[in-house]
Amino acid sequence: MREETKAIRLQTERSQFKEHSAPIYMTSSYSFDDAEEMRALFADEKEGNIYSRYSNPNVQEFIDKICAFENAEAGWATASGMAAVFTLFGSLLSAGDHVVSCRSIFGSTHRLFADILPRWNISSTYVDFDDYDSFENSIQENTKLLYIETPSNPGLDIIDLEKLAIICKKKQILFIVDNCFATPILQKPLNFGADVSIHSATKYIDGQGRTLGGIIVSSKKIIQKVEAFARHTGPSMSPFNAWVLSKSIETLPLRIERHSSNALEIAKRLQKSNKVKWVKYPHLESHPQFEIAKKQMKMGGGIVSFEINGGLEAGRNFLNQLQLFSLTANLGDTRSIATHPASTTHSKLTPEQRMDVGISDGLIRLSIGLEHVEDIWEDIEQAL
Ligand SMILES: *Cc1c(COP(=O)(O)O)cnc(C)c1O
Repeated sequence: MREETKAIRLQTERSQFKEHSAPIYMTSSYSFDDAEEMRALFADEKEGNIYSRYSNPNVQEFIDKICAFENAEAGWATASGMAAVFTLFGSLLSAGDHVVSCRSIFGSTHRLFADILPRWNISSTYVDFDDYDSFENSIQENTKLLYIETPSNPGLDIIDLEKLAIICKKKQILFIVDNCFATPILQKPLNFGADVSIHSATKYIDGQGRTLGGIIVSSKKIIQKVEAFARHTGPSMSPFNAWVLSKSIETLPLRIERHSSNALEIAKRLQKSNKVKWVKYPHLESHPQFEIAKKQMKMGGGIVSFEINGGLEAGRNFLNQLQLFSLTANLGDTRSIATHPASTTHSKLTPEQRMDVGISDGLIRLSIGLEHVEDIWEDIEQAL
């Protein structure tokens, strides 16, 4: 089966009721026929469910579907994207270890590197997204993994996965990709040599702004380490959220295609507007890493960034004028969403500090939804 078919047809086994659509297994534990079966399961001699902190049919269905998209042997699902990130670090890192990361990463991941991991004496080094020599030269004796996000948020910079995979193999460290922005449909980091791909399922995988969720996919060997940590620390995904997310995946390929085609059209029109200084979108030929984006992303995704003429004030005004777009911190929803980082998430930084992380005062981030593209454009046009 092709991945689109697997996303729909991979389901938990039918129960005695022969349901067509998978039911929700809201159970904290599972029962055993006799003492011998119970012993065999606990001794790992037999496969089966014991307790929902370890495994659950809905959660397994969700994992199987994402693994099918990303050509991964195994996976582990978590209650949120950040639970996936922290579970991965908890599974792979020990006191005294070091991590190399790209500079532009999700805010809470930055807090892990800056405040939380140092409490266990785990240090990190940031590298600019396009400085491959520095990525290699920052790897020390005690470096265990290299961590990146591509495309980056909100700058949409693209990092060459193949290039970094070669460096990591040479240096014998693990290569981790937060694949949340690209989704399992558009980018498959394991195919380019990454060891682990992780997602916040809260974004495009749910795609309708309902649940939190996260997932780690990798080799069986690495997921065994994740399991050894996660079984006893409890970041588990709930069966209900796994059921919601498994249903979402059935339409994920279709949704991502439309998000991407809508976003490409909006990016092209913004590029022609005299109210706009520049537009960034991975599959626009004007994108500085267009060739890399074409190589590793099937389509450009749903996020468009642009710089409005007139700086901070113009950015704020633009947001106030929007009527269809939602103003919310989420992304990857059926509803189009606009944010102005300089006046919100990054307002506490000085303009110089903002420029360091690639956020100019007039930068607007659009998460293009599934509304009709003409309605999306009309709203942008009148607000401009
Ligand atoms: C949202 C996000 C996360 C965190 O996911 P949650 O589900 O909110 O915990 C991690 N990485 C990226 C790139 C994200 O956009």
